[in-house]
Amino acid sequence: MQTLDRLVHGFARLPGLGRKSAARLVYFLLGAKDEFVESLARDLIALKRDTRPCSRCGVYAEGELCAYCADPTRDTGTICVVEESRDVITIESTQSYRGLYHVLGGAISPVDGVRPADLTIDDLIRRVREHGAGEVILATNPTVEGETTALFLRDRLQAACRPGAELTVTQLALGLPVGGDLEYADRLTLARALNGRTAV
Ligand SMILES: [Zn+2]
Repeated sequence: MQTLDRLVHGFARLPGLGRKSAARLVYFLLGAKDEFVESLARDLIALKRDTRPCSRCGVYAEGELCAYCADPTRDTGTICVVEESRDVITIESTQSYRGLYHVLGGAISPVDGVRPADLTIDDLIRRVREHGAGEVILATNPTVEGETTALFLRDRLQAACRPGAELTVTQLALGLPVGGDLEYADRLTLARALNGRTAV
C-alpha cells in the first residue's frame, strides 16, 4: 500500500470521517505548504509523547499540572466534575467558569461494566476533604449513565464531607438536551446551565 492510500485508510478510522472525507483531507495535505504539514506531523508525535493527565485533576496537560491547576487566578474553592478531559474545552468556551476541574474518566455504566471504582471518584473525595472545596459542580453528560454517576457522586460527597464543613453540591441545570453530550451543547445553553445550576 502506498503512503497516500495508507493515510486515507488511517484518516478514515478517525471519528466522524468516512473514506471520502479522509481522501479529501489527504489530498488537501498533499497540496498544502511543506511547513504546515511538517508542523502538523511534529505536533501529532508530541501529542502522544508529552500529553498526560494532570496529576491533580486529570485534565490533559504537558507537564505535571494542567493550565487550570497551575493558574493562581482560578477559584480553588470550586471544582467542576466532568466525564472526560475534552468536556473542559466545552465548559471553557462559555467563559462563565473560573474554578478548577476534576475528570472522572467516564461514567458509571453497569451495561458496559464501568463501576464506580473504575473512575477517579476516590481522588475527588480526597481533593474535597483535603483542600476543603466549597462547591462541587456535577457536569456529567445528560444521559442515563451521567445521571447515575451524578447521583452516586452527590451521595458520596455528602457522606464524605467533614461535619461542620460547608460543601454545596450543584448540578448543571436547565435546557441541556437529554441523551446528548456536553460536547454538543451550544455555548449559550451551557453558559445558562452553568449559571442556573442548582443544589442537589
Ligand atoms: Zn489540573
